[in-house]
Amino acid sequence: MKKLTDKFGRQITYLRLAVTDRCNLRCQYCMPAQGIDIVDRHDLLSYKEMYRITRVLSELGVNKVRLTGGEPFVRKDFINFLESLSFNNQLDQINITTNGALISNHISKLEELGIGTINLSLDTLKKEKFLKITRRDLFDKTMKTFEKLIASKLELKLNIVIQPKVNTDEILDFIELTKDKDIAVRFIEEMPFNGKGLRKTDEVWNLNRIYSEIEKIYKNITPIKDKKSSTSKNFRINNYKGTFGIIPAFTRTICNDCNRIRITATGMFKNCLFDDGVFNLRDFIRKGASDDELKQLFIDTVNQKPKNGFVAEANRKNKTISESMSTIGG
Ligand code: SAM
Ligand code: SF4
Repeated sequence: MKKLTDKFGRQITYLRLAVTDRCNLRCQYCMPAQGIDIVDRHDLLSYKEMYRITRVLSELGVNKVRLTGGEPFVRKDFINFLESLSFNNQLDQINITTNGALISNHISKLEELGIGTINLSLDTLKKEKFLKITRRDLFDKTMKTFEKLIASKLELKLNIVIQPKVNTDEILDFIELTKDKDIAVRFIEEMPFNGKGLRKTDEVWNLNRIYSEIEKIYKNITPIKDKKSSTSKNFRINNYKGTFGIIPAFTRTICNDCNRIRITATGMFKNCLFDDGVFNLRDFIRKGASDDELKQLFIDTVNQKPKNGFVAEANRKNKTISESMSTIGG
């Protein structure tokens, strides 16, 4: 089987696929209050197209898919799409990133489908602050999902975007969740995408700063040996059930072991989170490309994967990063 390998020897085994650009929240760091200009429905990849792209990639060695968005569950029939993907036995893992507000009734179905990890985005444990960050009053629904996920068989990771003067005071509360819950709490460095965030501050909360905040309180932290391609640096407080991690999304110290590609909801292929899209698959497919042509395109495009996120950013045609993370998929 031909494999997807770039010129730095990194093998691509992981696809992040955004199934929609729509979202039911308006997180401050992700998009402006009025939302983003969503594209016409016809310009989104159809499920059939997404299924085909995933199958072709799985024939090139991609064995893990993460479905994201926008909010994946706002797209009609998303569960049916998950079900069809679950029949692709070349995929070892189908994971989902979600804000959780719409899914408390779907947890048992997700278990039944053998979904791997759910990454639940939850930046605060406080109702009023949740409203401020997301601009939507959906805290109770999200917490209901959180509780149901903890009680389920699904592996749960919490994604917390660290926003200076907004939720840095809750870092230790999130760590305490790992005391008796077998979950992975992951703090993400905020990236300067479309949402301007709540930050009117010079404070920089990068990996080192987040870690030292935790280290001030906890003296019994053990590093966990990460999988090579892990995006987070992971740790455990001794005797705690769960783990915590920090994702250096902005300082980008993880690029050497990158194994992923991204496809946006409109079919834009991205070799890196920080590039501005290298190829529109939707148009290629709609012009009648065969599976072999698609495979060759993937092989050639992955070969050009930039060394790291800084190179990708420098190579952008459009120098300012202004797109919303909801169009990229995070
Ligand atoms: N709507 C889903 C959710 O929020 O989980 C999936 C899409 S969202 C774009 C994927 C991830 O990107 C979420 O964990 C979110 O917190 C993160 N994200 C969005 N904007 C970000 C930013 N400016 N900096 C860092 N992470 C961001
Ligand atoms: Fe929606 Fe996720 Fe962006 Fe929040 S981070 S606005 S939930 S896409």
